Amino acid sequence: MQADIVIVGAGPVGLCLARALSGAGLKIAMVEQQSLADIGEPQFDGREIALTQKSVRMMRRFGLWDLIDPHARAPLRSARVFNGPSPGALEIGHDLSGHTELGWLVSNHLIRKAAYEALLQSTAEHGDVTLLAARKVSAVKADDALASVTLESGETLSAKLIVAADSRFSSTRKMMGIAANLHDFGRAMLVCRMTHEAPHEHAAWEWFGYGQTLALLPMNAERSTNAHQSSVVLTLPVGQVNEVAALEPEAFARHIEDRFMHRLGAMTLASTRHVYPLVAVYPERFVGKRFAAVGDAAVGMHPVTAHGFNFGLLGVENLGKRIIDAHKSGFDIGAPSVLQGYETQHRRATKPLYLATRFITDVYTNNTAPAKLARDFMLRAASKLMPFKKAIAASLTG
Ligand SMILES: Cc1cc2nc3c(=O)[nH]c(=O)nc-3n(C[C@H](O)[C@H](O)[C@H](O)COP(=O)(O)OP(=O)(O)OC[C@H]3O[C@@H](n4cnc5c(N)ncnc54)[C@H](O)[C@@H]3O)c2cc1C
Repeated sequence: MQADIVIVGAGPVGLCLARALSGAGLKIAMVEQQSLADIGEPQFDGREIALTQKSVRMMRRFGLWDLIDPHARAPLRSARVFNGPSPGALEIGHDLSGHTELGWLVSNHLIRKAAYEALLQSTAEHGDVTLLAARKVSAVKADDALASVTLESGETLSAKLIVAADSRFSSTRKMMGIAANLHDFGRAMLVCRMTHEAPHEHAAWEWFGYGQTLALLPMNAERSTNAHQSSVVLTLPVGQVNEVAALEPEAFARHIEDRFMHRLGAMTLASTRHVYPLVAVYPERFVGKRFAAVGDAAVGMHPVTAHGFNFGLLGVENLGKRIIDAHKSGFDIGAPSVLQGYETQHRRATKPLYLATRFITDVYTNNTAPAKLARDFMLRAASKLMPFKKAIAASLTG
């Protein structure tokens, strides 16, 4: 099969890139290892994605936003950062951003579903995207004239450009010989939905405790009971997370109440629980010969600053525009100059926050006495620095 672009991976970013390119006169092939049924009806995976205002604008432009049930889009009005047992917090309100909310929270599986539906709508009109589901890429090749991927089924797809959107552990990126810096935090995140007695006021919590990190992401009220509902995120060393995840629902709820020092009152488990090992990835390059990486394949963020998918959309915007501009002016879409522009801009957009996130997680999971003091001092100083607070608000709104 011959296409202009082959996108490997139909996760949320791969689907958004295909949607962004659809209608521009390009022939696009997508390869995804999951079945068509799983792509069309993705299951709840515990992740609630904090979306910046910029990401929401892009999702509107691609026709995704209106495909998501309004009740499933929860506004994020403020963010609170706690240190240790202290009840005082660094508070970033939406007023610092000039918006009525800092951003929005939407479940990852609903973003995936909406991205697929928006792509189907666009493809019905333009007939330009072919999705090859239940197929896995086994080899990638590129030369000056053309690139190609070989599937495990033996099929070969050639194109002017191959784009990897196949997760932070991208095998396509690896097969292109691109090295990546991996940082294994030795911890894992347990995520699930819980209902609770106390209201959350649509505030997200990031609570750097001693020996644990907790986060609370405010959802809209549980539909049938109208109970306050949040996504709870517990970060612990891997072995401990697995023990907590294995508790019976009742024991689990009591355990989480204790960890939250009963600040949310009685809590009840309201969903399945999911565990994610924490590994951050930053490749040495995002591009190669007739090759580009987007989404987590380009920048695999630690979720604490909630920017993985937001960066994925930034990459889609940046790379997508360059591909369309090149194509419209009759230029080679896989030319080094096109890809280098993406590389430079995306690195500039992502590297500072990637490094800052590493710094935050290193400092705020260090439980030595001097580190605890430094943590407290930094938070107090930050809460008095209006420009710093505004900078955080700007980063959250995008
Ligand atoms: C707990 C948690 C919370 C998060 N919270 C936030 C948040 O608040 N805000 C935010 O912006 N981001 C957040 N993220 C990050 C966000 O989920 C990711 O950035 C996003 O899912 C990346 O999408 P992707 O399409 O690049 O990759 P993925 O979602 O990993 O999708 C990759 C796709 O490629 C397919 N694939 C892999 N290998 C192959 C192959 N060889 N052949 C064919 N197909 C293949 C896979 O099946 C998959 O469908 C969070 C992540 C976690 C774990």
